[in-house]
Amino acid sequence: MRGPSSSHTAASWRIARIALELLNHPLEKALIEFDRDGAWAPNYREQGTTMGINGGLLGLEITDERMKDTEHYARQQGITIEYQVSSFPTNHANTARLTLWGKSKKRVQVIAVSVGGGSFEITSVNGFPVQLHGDLYGIILFAQNKPDVREELKSIIPSEVKFTTEQKENIIKYELKSSNPFSTDLITRLKTNPAIDEISVIKPIMPITAGKQTKMPFTSIQSLLDYAEKEESDLGNLGLVYERCMSGIGVQELKDKMNEVIDIIHNSLDTGLNGTHYTDRILPQQSHLIGQAEEEGKIVHSVINRIIENVSALMESKSAMEVVVALPTAGSCGTVGGSLRAISENLSSSREELNKAYFAAGIVGAYFAQGPGFSAEEHGCQVECGAASGMAAAGIVQLMGGTAKQALDAASMAIQNMIGLVCDPVADRVEVPCLGKNISAAVNAYSSAIMSIAGFDAVIPLDQVIQTVSSVSKTMPACVKCTGKGGLAITETALNIKNKLKGYSIQKGLKTNKRTK
Ligand code: SF4
Repeated sequence: MRGPSSSHTAASWRIARIALELLNHPLEKALIEFDRDGAWAPNYREQGTTMGINGGLLGLEITDERMKDTEHYARQQGITIEYQVSSFPTNHANTARLTLWGKSKKRVQVIAVSVGGGSFEITSVNGFPVQLHGDLYGIILFAQNKPDVREELKSIIPSEVKFTTEQKENIIKYELKSSNPFSTDLITRLKTNPAIDEISVIKPIMPITAGKQTKMPFTSIQSLLDYAEKEESDLGNLGLVYERCMSGIGVQELKDKMNEVIDIIHNSLDTGLNGTHYTDRILPQQSHLIGQAEEEGKIVHSVINRIIENVSALMESKSAMEVVVALPTAGSCGTVGGSLRAISENLSSSREELNKAYFAAGIVGAYFAQGPGFSAEEHGCQVECGAASGMAAAGIVQLMGGTAKQALDAASMAIQNMIGLVCDPVADRVEVPCLGKNISAAVNAYSSAIMSIAGFDAVIPLDQVIQTVSSVSKTMPACVKCTGKGGLAITETALNIKNKLKGYSIQKGLKTNKRTK
């Protein structure tokens, strides 16, 4: 993805792409609303929600260079996209209401929630409740003042397709969901059915399509450890088993996909090291300062230096709107990639070993996703840099040749050290204190891995640590959950920086060189 925040930018982009498919007509204008009491209202421009939604509505890929300036591209296309803070019922801090009008005057209204790390749920379409997560093929049909044809439709819909209907007054919604693409013949028959007014065909937007799961040989973290002991398997292998069972994809294809992810991360890292520039940024390029300090003899060479350098380079790429992997989020994109590259180079690990380390990190992320998830607006930075630190610790143990238990204990220790971490970005930019938190998370991952391999006792098992993250977040005030209303974000210096940046959005940052820091 490009953009500063996965929950703001990647999820918004995905929501907008599906809203566009629901409209199913060329877009003329859109109104995007955020609830005034939600977490998005104060920072939707600065944290890249507008960038994501604009890009999605304009049909751009999220890695497209034009994502850096979607406002300009929208003007070129003659499409009006307005943003407004309103008041409407929500049950999640990250809720947006999108109303789209096509050139044909067709209108569609979507309510959607971003749940962290780029995941989302569309909860309503034209006032009808839905549950769209972007991981299935879907067809939504609307009919007004037409006979109910559900029985007729059932007779032409394949049995594996989930089919539901709902009626409100004189409008009927028919909904189809499937793990496989719908046949052209079925779509044509639905389109030409006189009892149907509108048809929207939705393609999956998540990287893995749901519904192809096979039976997992372990479920809980304890059963995973039992399985690891019985099979004498390390965590990297178990991560691969987990992904295979969840996706239905073969081992080699999964390894290839992981290698693609690693290539993107390494490209982002190299881009950062080569130097990035973006005007609307708090921090200048700093990743080069570590090597410079080594050359000048100010600091001695160490693997920690490489971790700091790598994490900084990834964060700088993110802040320059270059392509990054949200791992598990864009705000915490430096921790796993930066530490695993530094340690793998230090150990001269093979690509195969690095690939396995990413699967080890991935399964920790998967268990974390089943717990609190990755939304800083709900849980603070403990689910961004905290989760990333646990993932990185497991990956580092894997690189060092440790056991599955050592990897999970390292993840436990790393996350224990980050519980309660607040989210308080200065001037709503994901830079300060995000850079320092990513570096701390990566170094914390390294020390936790070393402690675990050396035989230190993690004491609290990983599953209980993850549960604690959820329970602690309930006691954290909303002002330190990515709202810009607490912590470092309201220091005198932070407010001065925010004031200087006023009027700039990340979209405008590229176009002007006038602002001085
Ligand atoms: S403080 Fe942490 S959670 Fe908040 S924006 Fe920065 S990296 Fe993300």
